Amino acid sequence: MKFGTKAIHAEIEPDSATGAIMTPIYQTSTYVQSTPGEHKGYEYSRTQNPTRHTLEKNLATLENAKYGLCFGSGMAATDAVMKLLSPGDEVVSTNDLYGGSYRIFETIFKAYGIVFHFVPMNDLEAIKEKINDKTKMLWVETPTNPMMNIIDIVAVAEISKSNNLTLVVDNTFASPYLQNPMDLGADIVTHSITKYISGHSDVVMGAIICNDDGLQEKLAFIQNTCGAVCGPMDSFLVLRGIKTLHLRMQRHCENAAVLAKHLKNHPKVDKVYWPGFEDHANHEIAKKQMRGFGGTISFTTKSDTLKDAHTFLSNVKVFSLAESLGGVESLCSHPATMTHAAIPKEVREKSGVVESLVRLSVGIEDINDLIADIDQALSHI
Ligand SMILES: *Cc1c(COP(=O)(O)O)cnc(C)c1O
Repeated sequence: MKFGTKAIHAEIEPDSATGAIMTPIYQTSTYVQSTPGEHKGYEYSRTQNPTRHTLEKNLATLENAKYGLCFGSGMAATDAVMKLLSPGDEVVSTNDLYGGSYRIFETIFKAYGIVFHFVPMNDLEAIKEKINDKTKMLWVETPTNPMMNIIDIVAVAEISKSNNLTLVVDNTFASPYLQNPMDLGADIVTHSITKYISGHSDVVMGAIICNDDGLQEKLAFIQNTCGAVCGPMDSFLVLRGIKTLHLRMQRHCENAAVLAKHLKNHPKVDKVYWPGFEDHANHEIAKKQMRGFGGTISFTTKSDTLKDAHTFLSNVKVFSLAESLGGVESLCSHPATMTHAAIPKEVREKSGVVESLVRLSVGIEDINDLIADIDQALSHI
């Protein structure tokens, strides 16, 4: 089955009791057993829930994988993956990382004795330099947020395999429609479902995808033991959102391409970060491992002040100033003071998150309205 068919049909069967074509919301905490231990595969909803289970199986197919597990948020999924590690273990990750991932690594898991190294992961030598006997995991996020760097998953997977490590790829920004890290050698894929997969800014959820039976057993154990599961209503909403994932992603990509080119020619704009530009440092890798360049772009202004960013963000009318991304509506944000505020200024600026940097999550509205909105907001600078 091709992607658009899988999004709508994979692992989704008519309800066995009624024939309902849409997966019912099994809003129940427990399930009746006929005699002790005799049940229909469901005992308690932390452990198994049919609505969540359908979503988990559908998601796994979208990543061309065997297993999916859903969690109460993307961070809960990240938390579960990190619980595979033990004190003393080391992780190499990218220096241009989602702020919340940086925060959970450097505050929560560092306190449990796990050591993190942050390097620019498009420099393969920089990754190798940090690997030692204690290294257990490589954590990749690509495209990176908000700088839109592209990390070569195949190349990192080779390093991971030759050192016997677990390669995790946070695939939130690309979504399974644009990129399938499992096909490129990843052991685990994580998602903030909250973003493109859900796509309607009405759910917070996360997922872990893997192929290996042993890994799945450990991760499902962590999911059930620690209990950060998502509810059936949210699982239903995400199943509904996924049915249009391919259509939404196509329009996100189209609109972002037009806006990126428009911004590049704008007299008040300095740099535009979008992997679709031929002169983007990682353009060739993006072309090789992605099926489109995504719906997110970042830019800086020529005068590069905090005031420029504030002026732009306070004057947009179709775009909304808000954290998050990947919804049908266009959003804009200020990474330095919003999503990346937890990262120290020196660390942040080294990776390019300067004061005037604005991130756009380009929605699926009419492109002419988006262009007009950007132009009028920039005219106030
Ligand atoms: C939002 C996000 C997360 C965290 O997900 P939540 O659903 O907000 O907990 C993790 N990684 C990336 C790349 C994200 O954008």
